[in-house]
Parts: sequence; structure tokens; C-alpha cells
Amino acid sequence: MTSNCADILRLKVGHILNKSVGFVSEVQIEGQEFHVASDLYANSLFGNISLTRIPLGILVAGDVEATSSTECGRCLVNHLNSTSASISELYSEHDNEQSQFTIGDNCELDLGPLFRELLLVSEPIQALCCTDCKGLCADCGANLNQSKCECHEENVSKNLSIVF
Ligand SMILES: [Zn+2]
Ligand SMILES: [Zn+2]
Repeated sequence: MTSNCADILRLKVGHILNKSVGFVSEVQIEGQEFHVASDLYANSLFGNISLTRIPLGILVAGDVEATSSTECGRCLVNHLNSTSASISELYSEHDNEQSQFTIGDNCELDLGPLFRELLLVSEPIQALCCTDCKGLCADCGANLNQSKCECHEENVSKNLSIVF
């Protein structure tokens, strides 16, 4: 099921471009279950940002926080992982070497690529479902958070010195 909620990341900024330098507009972004980018799905996203008119275009600054489903590095179970990032990025009005982001001809400022970059970078490399995740049994693959497997109980106490 794909939703078009990513539209909330595309801001119409024509009215800001028409203002003089220094004009600030505060924007709150809130969305549930949508694709920030094709490879980044957010279960929830919240952003508190300000758009400031500057000579080159618009400066986007603020904080964004997203929750997404991530595979635990130990037990491989999907869990919700929240990530936050601070933004301070120039969206230039016209193609410009100083800026990676450009406001479209339709006066649309697309936060999707920026959020994607920030959130993917700040995501922990090995996200765990909980700090004391017990992981999977190396022998039978059982999730040791959910159950104790028999091989584990026996091996640890009796056979450890023989096995290794
Ligand atoms: Zn885990
Ligand atoms: Zn086992």
C-alpha cells in the first residue's frame, strides 16, 4: 500500500520567495506511515522547521525526528527505531554551486531528499531492538528473547569446554 503522504514534504514556497530577505516562516510537519524516499519508509515523522528567505533562496533549519522499522542487529526482529537530526540547509532559488538542493520551477521545496540524507546518516549502524537483546542461538536459531532453546541451556552448563 503506497500513500501519497510524502506530499507533506513538498512545501509551496512561492509566497516566501516573494518576501524580502529575512522573512521567516515556521512550519510543522507531521506524517504517519509514508515513504520519505523510495528507500526510506517512516512509521512516523515529526519536524519543526523554519524557512528563512535569504538572498540565494531559502534556508531550512530545525529538527526532524522519524520512527522507522529496523531489523535488530542481533535477533533480526523488526522493531521501531527512532532517529532525529538537526537541519540547516540552503535551498537555492536557481541552480547554484553552493547548494545541493534547488527549489523547483513550480516554487516547490522538496524536503524528501534532505530528510532522507539526514535520517539515513544518523541511523545507528547496528540498531538493536533493546540494549540487552539476547540475540539468536548460534546452534538452533531460536530467538533467545522469546524462549530458551534446549541446546542453549545444556551446552552452556555441560558441554562448553568440550565443544570449544
Ligand atoms: Zn534484538
Ligand atoms: Zn539453540
